[in-house]
Amino acid sequence: MSIVQHLIHGELVTKGERTADVFNPSTGQAVRKVELASRATVQQAIDSAKAAFPAWRNTPPAKRAQVMFRFKQLLEQNEARISQMISEEHGKTLEDAAGELKRGIENVEFACAAPEVLKGEYSRNVGPNIDAWSDFQPLGVVAGITPFNFPAMVPLWMYPLAIACGNAFILKPSERDPSSTLFIAQLLLEAGLPKGILNVVHGDKEAVDALIEAPEVKALSFVGSTPIAEYIYAEGTKRGKRVQALGGAKNHAVLMPDADLDNAVSALMGAAYGSCGERCMAISVAVCVGDQVADALIAKLEPQIKALKIGAGTSCGLDMGPLVTAAARDKVVGYIDDGLAAGAKLVVDGRGLRVTGNEDGYFVGGTLFDHVTPEMRIYKEEIFGPVMSILTYESEEEVIRRANDTDFGLAAGVCTNDISRAHRIIHQLEAGICWINAWGESPAEMPVGGYKQSGVGRENGVSSLAQYTRIKSVQVELGGYTSVF
Ligand code: NAD
Repeated sequence: MSIVQHLIHGELVTKGERTADVFNPSTGQAVRKVELASRATVQQAIDSAKAAFPAWRNTPPAKRAQVMFRFKQLLEQNEARISQMISEEHGKTLEDAAGELKRGIENVEFACAAPEVLKGEYSRNVGPNIDAWSDFQPLGVVAGITPFNFPAMVPLWMYPLAIACGNAFILKPSERDPSSTLFIAQLLLEAGLPKGILNVVHGDKEAVDALIEAPEVKALSFVGSTPIAEYIYAEGTKRGKRVQALGGAKNHAVLMPDADLDNAVSALMGAAYGSCGERCMAISVAVCVGDQVADALIAKLEPQIKALKIGAGTSCGLDMGPLVTAAARDKVVGYIDDGLAAGAKLVVDGRGLRVTGNEDGYFVGGTLFDHVTPEMRIYKEEIFGPVMSILTYESEEEVIRRANDTDFGLAAGVCTNDISRAHRIIHQLEAGICWINAWGESPAEMPVGGYKQSGVGRENGVSSLAQYTRIKSVQVELGGYTSVF
């Protein structure tokens, strides 16, 4: 069985250390192994990055951006191959995989603008014959630890801009679907990135702890579940590192009586069931104002959920693939059992789905619960599967209070045709990303991150500069020269 290798100092390396199986979730078969880096292997990557950093830092931003332009071209040329790799190990449909790659390419495009973004400020005559300027400087060696659910896009949120800012980056991708992440990193080297500026080490807690503890690593970017986000934030900040740690979610959609229901249903179908619900921005709760809204919503959702085309992610024309692992499937089924036992009404049951020809795949069908209450675990906890809960309240005030009655705060939205109401509600929703009559969009120039237990910090856009640069301000006495301005 082939092994997914580390990428250290521009070379693919195998260390003969511990390995983990990588599965194709559509078949349930192990398809390859991935090396799990020891502390010594991580240190080798850190040493490589540290050695490469000074020359890269002194490379003009415009030259660094040119590497990103070539990287973008290579990503576009390899779209089909990368989508296939994502789909084979993650399980999402080829269309979903291509979509995540396109969104990641937008981050590369943003990084191409580094010369503009890094310009800083200039202030003339701040004192007698004194001018001042500020600029953004790289930190040195920085690291990213990424989740399984976007093996292409989430790493691309991080390292293109970090590297374009002049840093050297170490990436520790998810060990569950590492192949596309590694291949994409190789393309950046092919685009002309010097050796050592991007190293990829695969691994588990041991590799992550090595990155947290290494004094050479100045900043850690994490995206994943809330318990690990909290661990990395606590351990990293304790050691004086800059840490941003984006965690889990329980995203609510608020449906008002005047909502365009067809539009809402179309948004919810994609938001709740796309990528099998394994999206941080998935909608898992629809909060309706009034029984009539809930009944009309269910009448439209039920047939569409039952008609979802589900199969191996690598087949064309499907709506949904499997969950990522057998453990993820069992966890989701456990939540459905729990919701039923707690008294929620199971409108559509996705358990026990068998896909002909893929009987061992980790499939769960689209699932819908009605009459969910705030005490239930299916309401409170992140399920990360194709399960949506419906709750009904009588007033706008109550619905806002309830939508905010969650430990998470990544995303939320409202469906209404009253623009004043939309603004009023959005203003009160406690979430880092909000939508009005839409779902899921978040362009590369806008910040991504949440409130409450959804984490700390922001990826994407100029907000990322707070993570990957430090600002220097300089005052200069102009001596004999007198400004004419
Ligand atoms: P995860 O927390 O299990 O893993 C994320 C990373 O942490 C992986 O690289 C993994 O190897 C590493 N890791 C796992 N256990 C560890 C430990 N004990 N110590 C140190 N490192 C450890 O998350 P996941 O299951 O891969 O991803 C799904 C989660 O990510 C969901 O909760 C989802 O909401 C979240 N997510 C959030 C966002 C966001 O923008 N906030 C985006 C994508 C995913």
